[in-house]
Amino acid sequence: MITGTLRTSKSEEIFAAAQQLMPGGVSSPVRAFKSVGGQPIVFDRVKGAYAWDVDGNQYIDYVGTWGPAICGHAHPDVIRAIQEAAEKGTSFGAPCALENVLAEMVIDAVPSVEMVRFVNSGTEACMAVLRLMRAFTGREKVIKFEGCYHGHADMFLVKAGSGVATLGLPDSPGVPKSTTASTLTAPYNDLDAVRQLFEENPGEIAGLILEPVVGNAGFIVPEAGFLAGLRELTQEHGALLVFDEVMTGFRISYGGAQEKFGITPDLTTLGKVIGGGLPVGAYGGRKDIMAMVAPAGPMYQAGTLSGNPLAMTAGIKTLELLRRPGSYEHLDRVTSRLIAGLLDVAKETGHAASGGSISGMFGLFFAEGPVHNYEDAKKSDLVKFSKFHRGMLEQGVYLAPSQFEAGFTSLAHTDEEVDRTIEAAKAVMSNL
Ligand SMILES: *Cc1c(COP(=O)(O)O)cnc(C)c1O
Repeated sequence: MITGTLRTSKSEEIFAAAQQLMPGGVSSPVRAFKSVGGQPIVFDRVKGAYAWDVDGNQYIDYVGTWGPAICGHAHPDVIRAIQEAAEKGTSFGAPCALENVLAEMVIDAVPSVEMVRFVNSGTEACMAVLRLMRAFTGREKVIKFEGCYHGHADMFLVKAGSGVATLGLPDSPGVPKSTTASTLTAPYNDLDAVRQLFEENPGEIAGLILEPVVGNAGFIVPEAGFLAGLRELTQEHGALLVFDEVMTGFRISYGGAQEKFGITPDLTTLGKVIGGGLPVGAYGGRKDIMAMVAPAGPMYQAGTLSGNPLAMTAGIKTLELLRRPGSYEHLDRVTSRLIAGLLDVAKETGHAASGGSISGMFGLFFAEGPVHNYEDAKKSDLVKFSKFHRGMLEQGVYLAPSQFEAGFTSLAHTDEEVDRTIEAAKAVMSNL
């Protein structure tokens, strides 16, 4: 384990050059260390529960490439399958039998999905699902929740959580008011607010989209009755219920949050895990709704690289590994031990903290809990989080560089990594 000051000279050199070449030196803003200070660490390679940076430091990784690495980084079975698939070509631009295989796996696993369309990212899946909600209902308005992130499309960049929150941008310039005018927002876990929006906009709301467990405002769980209440309200008002399971799909359980909580939405978006580390997104749901999508129906949506054999292969292999008996029991056990340990350490060292976990997804807020919504999450001590983040990095633990991100474990995280992480937290929190 690394103690003391990190060696970062190579990371600094590469990042300095990157800043001249790419805005902010990164390809996605969440990778920068804007909210925690300091400079991002440049990775060299990843394996299992670990990442190594270009200066040779080793970290226990709780970001897991933001979710996809649920079997552990660079799982040998996934890598071998990708290598074999690549021999036959990386993209066909024509139907490929592997699409059927992954589609069947998704349809079998996710209760709401009777038919599926593959795309290349979670953002794309959410953009398409929004068009589909409007096409199917003939209505324009949609409801989203404060702190929920549904990709970077214009219509969703309203109170959109982590990435945006971290940069302190309440919205983004370049998003026309006309685009977000039909995006209504409500606080998470607040059924009355949703009921009121439906009453104020009779017959105008196409549907409601949410993260069934929030991971983009830290980690926030739905209160008892919240998801069921949304299911009832949408049905009552002829609106569609959409679960954005880009993060929770195949992570909270094999069938996602909808299986875990027993609430079936009309449509679902997926991403992250189903690509096994390659770019894949998907949207799916009721057959009568999916029949609207071109070329079966009139709603246009397309993609040059969508359903390519390489990405399908990585997804198929990843799901095969996940459906082995004991996968989710392992994730549950390891992750709840981790969060219990971290909360104990916080208590022992006198820091207000709250947090929780479901399966391989967790969160820790430096705030008196419980955290019910984004407003609560924002009461966290961000200065303390920054110091904690830096301290953990120096102890060889890589956490997401923002208080407003969930953490992820994988099948490769064992008691050994968890114990070392708790020890590291003890050392860091004692000195906060
Ligand atoms: C990551 C994420 C997205 C966006 O997916 P990308 O692949 O990054 O475009 C959308 N919704 C949720 C809930 C996410 O966590």
